[in-house]
Amino acid sequence: MNYLSTRGHPDRKRFCEILLEGLAPDGGLYLPEFYPQVDAATLEKWRGLAYADLAFEILSLYIDDIPAADLRAICRKTYTREVFGTPEIVPLKKLEDGLYLQALSNGPTLAFKDMAMQLLGNLFEYELARRAEQLNILGATSGDTGSAAEYAMRGKQGVRVFMLSPLGRMSPFQQAQMFSLQDANIHNIAVKGVFDDCQDMVKAVSNDLPFKREYKVGTVNSINWARLLAQVVYYFSGYLQSGASRVSFTVPSGNFGNVCAGHVARMMGLPIDKLVVATNENDVLDEFFRTGVYRVRGSADTHETSSPSMDISKASNFERFVFDLLGRDGARTQDLFGAQLSQTGRFDLSADPLFQQAASRYGFASGKSTHSDRLATIAHTYQQQGVMVDTHTADGLKVAHENLQAGTPMLVLETALPIKFAATIVQALGIEPPRPPQFEGIEDLPKRVTEMAADAKAIQHYIRAHC
Ligand SMILES: *Cc1c(COP(=O)(O)O)cnc(C)c1O
Repeated sequence: MNYLSTRGHPDRKRFCEILLEGLAPDGGLYLPEFYPQVDAATLEKWRGLAYADLAFEILSLYIDDIPAADLRAICRKTYTREVFGTPEIVPLKKLEDGLYLQALSNGPTLAFKDMAMQLLGNLFEYELARRAEQLNILGATSGDTGSAAEYAMRGKQGVRVFMLSPLGRMSPFQQAQMFSLQDANIHNIAVKGVFDDCQDMVKAVSNDLPFKREYKVGTVNSINWARLLAQVVYYFSGYLQSGASRVSFTVPSGNFGNVCAGHVARMMGLPIDKLVVATNENDVLDEFFRTGVYRVRGSADTHETSSPSMDISKASNFERFVFDLLGRDGARTQDLFGAQLSQTGRFDLSADPLFQQAASRYGFASGKSTHSDRLATIAHTYQQQGVMVDTHTADGLKVAHENLQAGTPMLVLETALPIKFAATIVQALGIEPPRPPQFEGIEDLPKRVTEMAADAKAIQHYIRAHC
């Protein structure tokens, strides 16, 4: 399998080449040259497989530069009951007739990002050893991404993580999760500033090409193709577990990474009826699917909400879907995401007949949920069904209810456990969410964190000193 850029660059790459890269050289995102097709007979064959073996079957359709035995071993090492809590790894839970929750949040950091990041950690370690190289991962986080990356990379050979977070702005639980790690290859850096300052520092270092090359600086952000590919697997698993001949999914969405994996699964022939995109008050994606207008928000227009992992001003993976929607026209994708967005901050496909196909041909629908919807959904789900959901999953459930169709099961992806967002759960239910035993007393553990000014020079100095 070869990979191409959504912006039409003529180069083609293999999986392991793009594994450790971010954007394509022309600023586009990588996608496979085509989507391998999975027919009904193959799906039947996969029905009885353990999750790790299902992952191997799907990954091996896209990865031909890792020997099959090695890839299978990596999948089996990643998706274990010990790490993910159940033999099914991503079990379905029935809420009511035709409505299911798919649990993706039982990994080490209690959010779905573990599903991809745990695999990425093992792939990185494998590929870096093969190349006899080292990698310094520099990232910025406001919560879930940073902890998922650290728990995936801790103790891995050849990898160091330098994770910037805004000083004092994460929830106490999230801070404790990250700062209690004592592994020598994990560096927590609390920046005296806000999340945007952290991101600016990462950008400044990434733009310093000589430094980036000398110190082998890389990232693990959500545009990484390997992360997206890992997420494709649980759509297949959800479908197979449901036993239905056709299902729909609702996906709480921010950067469009999770639901883009659903799009890939659907393009491979998985019988998905609708892919419902659920947003919070930051409704960039809902606006697009309703109107055909994609409009990046300014920082004054980006709201801090009680589902903070979906607080985005633009959806960094969205370009992948638009590229497919436009019939894989790289020049046009370049014009929309390069020229038009940088000049006007928006583009408008409402008059284009291709936009109509977002629903009819690709199955997309969308909806939006607000703080009061979130509280009502958390309360309703707890009282009626005895299930406590987190704030992001509540956004998904609210929008799923608006898109139910008799005869087609709706699977809602659970993206985090309630303990991560305890304050809002207390507001909705008046009780504290349960805490998995391994996190008892985590706030009292010794913390390993360095405070730093919001200054790119300071992080460069720190990286030099710790390599
Ligand atoms: C990251 C995250 C999301 C959004 O996922 P995207 O892939 O960015 O769309 C939703 N919920 C939680 C809990 C997350 O951590």
